[in-house]
Amino acid sequence: MQKIKVEKMTPEGYAVITLDKTYLLPNLMMGEEAFVDVTKKGIRIEKRLSSNPDRVKAKCPIYDVCGGCQLQHISYAKQLDLKSTLVGFYLEKESIKTEVLPVIGSNLPYNYRNKIQMVFGVNKGKIVAGFYEENTHKIVNATNCDIQDEVSNEIVNTIKLLMKKHKLMPYNEDTKEGIIRHVMIKRSRKTNQVLVILVTPSNVFPGRGNLVKDLLKAHPYITSIVHNVNPKDTSFVLGDQERVLHGKGFIEDVLLNKRFQISSKTFYQVNSEQTEVLYQKVIDFLESKKTDIILDAYSGVGTIGIILSDYVKKVLAVEINPDSVMSAKKNAQLNKVTNFETIAMDAKEYIQYLTNDKKSLDAIVVDPPRAGLDKAFVDSILQIKPKKMVYVSCNPETLARDLRQLSGSYQIVKVQPVDMFSQTYHVENIVLLSLKTA
Ligand code: SAH
Repeated sequence: MQKIKVEKMTPEGYAVITLDKTYLLPNLMMGEEAFVDVTKKGIRIEKRLSSNPDRVKAKCPIYDVCGGCQLQHISYAKQLDLKSTLVGFYLEKESIKTEVLPVIGSNLPYNYRNKIQMVFGVNKGKIVAGFYEENTHKIVNATNCDIQDEVSNEIVNTIKLLMKKHKLMPYNEDTKEGIIRHVMIKRSRKTNQVLVILVTPSNVFPGRGNLVKDLLKAHPYITSIVHNVNPKDTSFVLGDQERVLHGKGFIEDVLLNKRFQISSKTFYQVNSEQTEVLYQKVIDFLESKKTDIILDAYSGVGTIGIILSDYVKKVLAVEINPDSVMSAKKNAQLNKVTNFETIAMDAKEYIQYLTNDKKSLDAIVVDPPRAGLDKAFVDSILQIKPKKMVYVSCNPETLARDLRQLSGSYQIVKVQPVDMFSQTYHVENIVLLSLKTA
């Protein structure tokens, strides 16, 4: 055992400890001292000897083993500071000199996740539902995960009890036996609609009818129940095949007065309350005119574009996932929006087509996955040269890389982080870019 003092942190909030080699330790803050034990398996904190003034007691009893949250031991105000610094760090690394606005904090820093997914297993003869321990396939039992929707947590607990009652065993990845593999629940706090997805390894689901009946008896407000079959040895939760057991197979949420259908497989932001804050910023940053033609790239189920449709002449929404494009079309109909056009295509190819056709755009909104924008996509933006661009990003590292490429032609006007993922080090950003005039 040896004593250490934290003198360096990573921008994500891990303590950097250099002994025989460099270790990154969670749940230790700047200036704190601790006894640690280094073994072949790695480093372990034996006892923390002092506390940073911004330390708080983590709410979650399995915080140390789960790994799903990284910042529960830090006061919420300090979490927001940390995220601001994190964004600044990546921008500076790419030599982008711009001010980062203070992070917009959440009114709901716990129980915000509208989508939860739990893996089922057996531990010491008991049915458990939880998450894989970080970097392992060991399941940690999470009875009431603090960042997940409370009603969804209750439903998972009921499912555990009902599995015992109906002798439905959790699926075992090694023996390939058992029935329930995962449960995914999506809930809208605005409409109070709930979608439950039961994932099994095969079509065979004995006792399915009784489980559904009892589940609806315990939680009559469940809007829809779907049976998803995932026979593959994969880390993906859902398989291709699905059957609706109750309701219509989807639920509705409301964002900024527009309705959106949520189904099992399509992407939907996990924090609806902060998504409204985020989208409102997109509207404010764009300052659109009724004559504008805008591109909503990486549009998912059309949320941003449909919300923007009230402010512009036309929205072109490009998205690669055909299920999401279908939902986007439905969502436009649901909201009686007629100036919103979906394009099922790779965003890069579509923008190249627009460039070749010498089409002009007044503004572009991009909201790519963590990998950021394709280089070819950026090159096409630099050819089309819309006056304004809003970049919504869930990864400050790729955001900074892409901003550097755009910064020759575009001025980076504002960088606004929004806290969509409280208790974790993830941070969402909205950046306003404006075309430089010659
Ligand atoms: N703007 C939406 C979705 C953002 S998530 C929202 O706010 O909800 C990113 C989306 O990009 C996903 O729907 C994903 O399917 C899509 N995507 C990923 N790669 C793409 C590509 N090359 N071209 C177009 N869309 C892509």
